[in-house]
Amino acid sequence: MRIGVLALQGAVTEHIVSIEKTGAEGLPIKRVEQLEELDGLIIPGGESTAIGKLMRKYGFIEAIRDFSGQGKPIFGTCAGMIVLAKRIAGGEDSHLGLMDITVARNAFGRQRESFECDLDVKGISEPVRAVFIRAPLISEVGPEVDVLTVYNNEIVTARQDNLLVSSFHPELTDDYRLHQYFADMVKAKAAATQ
Ligand code: GLN
Repeated sequence: MRIGVLALQGAVTEHIVSIEKTGAEGLPIKRVEQLEELDGLIIPGGESTAIGKLMRKYGFIEAIRDFSGQGKPIFGTCAGMIVLAKRIAGGEDSHLGLMDITVARNAFGRQRESFECDLDVKGISEPVRAVFIRAPLISEVGPEVDVLTVYNNEIVTARQDNLLVSSFHPELTDDYRLHQYFADMVKAKAAATQ
C-alpha cells in the first residue's frame, strides 16, 4: 500500500515517518504523474494560500479532484484541511473544494497560537495527542460529513466518505493512530476495488 504526501510546502517528512509506522509505504509527491502510483494521499500542514498557489501552478487541482473522484482516500491536516474545504470563512476562494465543510483559518486566537491536548476521536478507543499550530476549525458541516472530534464546542476532526481532515498535526507526535485510521480507510478502499 502506498500513501503519498503532497510535498510542495509544509510538514512532509514527519508524515512519511508516521505513514511508515502503519506498515504502508510513504512517498513525497512533487509531480502530478506520481499520483497514479498511490492508494492514498496526505495534504500536510503549512500555509494554505502558499500550498493552493503551488497546486494551481503544478496542475494538482484537477489531478487531485480526479484522484478523489476515483474514491481514493485523502487526508488533509491543518492547512491541508483548508485546501480540501468547499468554503473558507471570510470569502476567500476555495482551493480543491472537495469536502462539504466551512473552515475558519487561524481560529484559536493569538494567545493560543500553539497548544497541545488529548482529544477523543470517534473510532479510536483512547484519546489522541493533538498539536495545534495556528490551526483552523470547522464552522459548518454538510449532511454527508461525520464529525469525529469536538474540542471546546468546535469541530476539529471530520470525515466525508473518502476524505478525512484534522485541524491539528497528528504527525508531530509519536502517536500514529490517526495515520492508522487513515491507512485503514486506504486499505478498505484498495480491497473494494480489487
Ligand atoms: N494558519 C495556516 C493557514 O491558514 C495553517 C497552519 C498550519 O498548517 N499549521 O494556512
